[in-house]
Amino acid sequence: MTSSGATVDPARVAVVWDEGLLGYKLSEDHPLHPVRLDLTMRLARSLGVLEGVEPLVPTPAPDAEVERIHVASYLEAVRRAPREGDDPVHQLGTTDNPIFEGMHEASALVCGGSIAAAREIAEGRADRAVNIAGGLHHAMADHAWGFCVYNDCAIAISWLLDHGYERICYIDTDVHHGDGVQAAFYDDDRVLTISMHQHPRTLWPGTGFASELGNGAASGTAVNLALPPRTRDAGWLRAFHAVVPGLLRAFQPQILVTQCGVDTHHEDPLAELSLSVDGHRAIYRSLRELAGQYTDGKWLALGGGGYGLFRAVPRSWTHLLATVLDRDVEPSRPIPADWISYATEKTRRPLPTSMTEDAPTDFERWGGFTEVEVDPFLLETRRAVFPLHGLDPQDTRD
Ligand SMILES: [Zn+2]
Repeated sequence: MTSSGATVDPARVAVVWDEGLLGYKLSEDHPLHPVRLDLTMRLARSLGVLEGVEPLVPTPAPDAEVERIHVASYLEAVRRAPREGDDPVHQLGTTDNPIFEGMHEASALVCGGSIAAAREIAEGRADRAVNIAGGLHHAMADHAWGFCVYNDCAIAISWLLDHGYERICYIDTDVHHGDGVQAAFYDDDRVLTISMHQHPRTLWPGTGFASELGNGAASGTAVNLALPPRTRDAGWLRAFHAVVPGLLRAFQPQILVTQCGVDTHHEDPLAELSLSVDGHRAIYRSLRELAGQYTDGKWLALGGGGYGLFRAVPRSWTHLLATVLDRDVEPSRPIPADWISYATEKTRRPLPTSMTEDAPTDFERWGGFTEVEVDPFLLETRRAVFPLHGLDPQDTRD
C-alpha cells in the first residue's frame, strides 16, 4: 500500500531480467561488476519478492534506437574496439571504460531492457517498470564515460518522447552527477532532469552545480542538487523533499524515470555520502508516492552505480524491486540462509544478516532557514531554479 492509497497489481509491473544482462562486465576486477545484479535477483527471489512475476526478457536495442542519443560513428567505434584496441577519442580502453568482448552487444541489451520497460508503460500493459541493469547515465553522444557505454536512460526517455509522452521528469539519485542524461536534454524543455549527487567540487565528474539550468527555452529544466560529503539519510531526504515535490507540482510530468544508483551508501568505495540501505528504501518509497501523486502512478525505475557489491547493492535494490511491486520488505526481515551461502562462495567480506542497517530514516522537513548542514545546498538549488518555474525559493509551501 502506498501512502497515496494506491496499490498496483503485480501483473501491472514489468521487471526486466535476463541472465544475458550479466554480460555487461567491463573486466573481472572492474568496480561495476555484474555480480551485484545476480546477487540482487537471487536475494529478491529468496525473499519471495518476485513470486509469480514473469520477467520481461529484453532483446538488444537496434542501432536506430541507440542512435537516438549516440552518433553512428561512436557505435562503429564500440563495435570494432574488441578487435582494434584502445580508442582514446571515444574513451574506450581507459581505466574507467575497458574494452571487452561483446561490448556493443551487451550495452545494446541494457538499452533494449530500458526501452522494453518504457514500452510496457507506454502501451498500457504496466504502470511501473524496473530495469536494475539500466541506469548508465554518464554515457555521452560520442564517447563512453564513467563505466557507461550507451546511455539507456536517455535512450528510453527519447523513446517515450516519440511514443505519447511530452513531459517527462528524470530523477537521478546516484552519488554522481547524471551528466549524460542532462547533456542529452539540456535544450529540451519536455524533459526535466533532476540530479542529486555529492558536490562536484569533491567528486567526479566535476559537473552538476546548481547553476547548470538548461539552455534557452529549456532554462530551468536541468536541476542540480549537490550535497556535501558525509550527508546521511536524514539530510538527503530533507534536501530531496525541499526541492523535488515542488518542481513536480510545477512541471506536471506524465511519467517519472528514475536512476536509482546506490553508490550513496556509506560503505561505497567510490564516493563519500553516508546513506544506508534503510535510507535507500525510504527514497524508493518517496519516489513511488510522488509517482502516485503527480504521474498517475507511471514510474520507470532504472539501476545505476553502486559498488558495495555484496553488502549494499543487493539489499538496496531488493528493496527497490519490492517497492516497485508494492511488496515492501520489512527492514527487520532476516536474509535467507541460501543467499548467504551463495554469496559466501564469492566474497570473504562479512555478509549482512538482515534487510536493515538499523539506520533512522526520520527527518525534519526544511523550515525555511539555514539550520542544518544541507540547508545552504538545498537553498542554492531552490534559488537557482525555483523562480524559473514560478516558485518562491523562500516559501516552504513551494
Ligand atoms: Zn555513480
